[in-house]
Amino acid sequence: MPAARVLIDGPSELVFDYAIPDGMDAKPGCRVKIPLRNRASTGTIIDITSEMPANFTLRPIATLIDPEPLITPNLLKLGKWIANYYGSPMELVMRALLPEAVRQESHSEKTRKTVILSQKPDEEAMAKLAKRASRQHLIITLLDAAGGQISLKDLGGGSVTASVKALEKQGFVEFKDEAVRRDPDEGEEFLEDQPLSLNPGQATALELVLEQIKKPEKPMLMHGVTGSGKTEVYLQAAQHCIDNGKSVLVLLPEISLTPQTVQRFKSRFASIQEQVAVLHSHLSQGERFDEWHRIRQGTARIVIGARSAIFAPLTDLGLIIVDEEHENSYKQDSAPRYHGRDLAVLRAHLEQAAVLLGSATPSLESFHNTETGKYHLLTLAERADGQSLPIIRIVDMRIEGKKNKGGPAILSDPLRGRMEAKLNEGEQVILFLNRRGFARSIQCPGCGHVCECRHCAIPLTYHRGDDRLICHMCGHQALPPKKCPECGDAAIRSQGYGTEQVESVIKKVFPQARVARIDTDTMRRKNALRDTLQKFRQRKIDIIIGTQMIAKGLHFPNVTLVGVLNADLGLHVPDFRAGERTFQLLTQVAGRAGRGELEGEVIVQTYTPHSPSIQFARHHDFLGYADQELDFRKQFGYPPYSHCAVIQTRSNHERRAEFTLENLHKRLKNSLPTGMVLHDPLPAPITKAHGQYRFQLMMLAPSARQLSHHISSILAQTPPPEDVTIIFDMDAMGF
Ligand code: ADP
Ligand code: ZN
Repeated sequence: MPAARVLIDGPSELVFDYAIPDGMDAKPGCRVKIPLRNRASTGTIIDITSEMPANFTLRPIATLIDPEPLITPNLLKLGKWIANYYGSPMELVMRALLPEAVRQESHSEKTRKTVILSQKPDEEAMAKLAKRASRQHLIITLLDAAGGQISLKDLGGGSVTASVKALEKQGFVEFKDEAVRRDPDEGEEFLEDQPLSLNPGQATALELVLEQIKKPEKPMLMHGVTGSGKTEVYLQAAQHCIDNGKSVLVLLPEISLTPQTVQRFKSRFASIQEQVAVLHSHLSQGERFDEWHRIRQGTARIVIGARSAIFAPLTDLGLIIVDEEHENSYKQDSAPRYHGRDLAVLRAHLEQAAVLLGSATPSLESFHNTETGKYHLLTLAERADGQSLPIIRIVDMRIEGKKNKGGPAILSDPLRGRMEAKLNEGEQVILFLNRRGFARSIQCPGCGHVCECRHCAIPLTYHRGDDRLICHMCGHQALPPKKCPECGDAAIRSQGYGTEQVESVIKKVFPQARVARIDTDTMRRKNALRDTLQKFRQRKIDIIIGTQMIAKGLHFPNVTLVGVLNADLGLHVPDFRAGERTFQLLTQVAGRAGRGELEGEVIVQTYTPHSPSIQFARHHDFLGYADQELDFRKQFGYPPYSHCAVIQTRSNHERRAEFTLENLHKRLKNSLPTGMVLHDPLPAPITKAHGQYRFQLMMLAPSARQLSHHISSILAQTPPPEDVTIIFDMDAMGF
């Protein structure tokens, strides 16, 4: 007799097996009532095992709550693939597939007590009410005027309950519980906007997308320079799907950082607003429950969300769009460690839907797939509005920095000069620096001591606003020392600069300018980002200083100058993708300039002006960059010429973390399949974080399946000591 493995609702997330009673049509994804100890409980079937263990009696499932599984068969297939490929237990995958808000019975439909006019009193009765119970008379009049139904709350809530009850007794009204949707956008209004007429490049791209929607054959990669009108192609392709009865899934890197793109979808589909669902991390559990069921029931047909939206239970999927497909945030950094873009390609295949990846700086993985013919390549080479791409100038800070004696070199003369000119013209400026806080670290000039986090092997960042040292890894805070904790030297001082310091410098240099800073420190309040961007659009702000929060998706026609303060920040880190990431970031940030009538320019400050990422970005030359970077990857056997996995051990005990990894290394090596490359175990680039020591090793192999299988089987044979955690990151993106 088959048994069902059930994930029990509740915070402890237990999993137990139950017998399936004869005749019960239990399927994975079905919700069930089961006995748990001496209580009745609820859960979701995550798997059906064909054989019940012998000599072991299981308690049976009590009832099937809903006979149809919550998870569609295709999503279940996707889930099994994830478990296999990323070496993740099916339980964890099921948790990703079915959000907690949906699994927990407590987040059920929201209902509202509504008063219904069941029988309108005749004239005589009304006259009586008017005389003796004016309140009841008023309620009847209001109900009548509103078409016979008003929520109790709108009628006045508790203060009218007695009167309504009296009317109920006389048989004039009834109470009803009406389901209401918790609408995350309640109160927001979207003006409908109309499709633009496409330029020839967009028209060609759209044509191919429509062909693929009709008859999906391969994934498509749209490489379109910043401002080339990719979003317009997405919108029209989505419209086409909806018109043909198909649904659309749109993945964005981070919903909160791409408000303009979300806005454009909402506006374009304003007339069918109820068919649009936006899934983002700010939804309450109740809203998430409602949105999920609106999707599952087929009411919502356009779903927009970050990576986890790949599990949205849409049916009749016509198209999956992955915007900014190169973004790292598509990779989940806790188990199951899936890549949203890669799942999009797979899900599209399972659903026989088209998949469109888009970027101004495609990942080398996707671009390589167009070279080998696995993907179609669509190209939008020019900006949609006919403007040219901004001119990018490189400022060599090795020379500029020397001019500035003493303080840190934040603003070079050329950048300061151009800012002055732009501000005089009434144009706007964006300054980009990918480091928040005031100073990177605090260091003693006497003995060289740097204040580090007690739990993590990284320097503490000085935040002047709070007068605190803060760890950007774990959030640990400390008071800044008055003198060096090592040698007592009082000359201890800050080093390097972050956005907070830039803000204070800019305010001094341009006292007339209105300056705003956008980073996670200043944007903590809900809607803070939206409000600041709104002010910027209304030209109530002249200069924005921001971290990568402002790097993508923003479109401000009056921004004519973008300054990149330190292009080298991400360059010198031990990761073979460091150069690719720098190229992408520079290109994206530069793309914020000159998006209107006015021409844009970009000034990039760097200490390594000749590095290829900077030089190719300067010439807007993605193809050139891809060409030489792919050469390098091929030479070293790195992705996309192989798949890469990282195994990391973490423990409070340094030796135990190290020893566990060495042991794994030995076993991985013993049975190493040919063609697979196993690197030596090393301390991780950040050797300690959250109080745990980290060691890691990297493996490369031409076949992903073989790589993942080899690692999974060794891990299964090698359970770690209790105080060591092993992390297996297949297709790892960050090191
Ligand atoms: P991308 O997504 O490639 O960065 P956008 O879709 O944001 O580019 O387009 C940049 C600007 O060009 C937007 O203001 C958009 O409204 C405009 N645009 C796009 N397509 C057209 C078109 N066919 N005709 C006129 N303007 C267009
Ligand atoms: Zn820390």
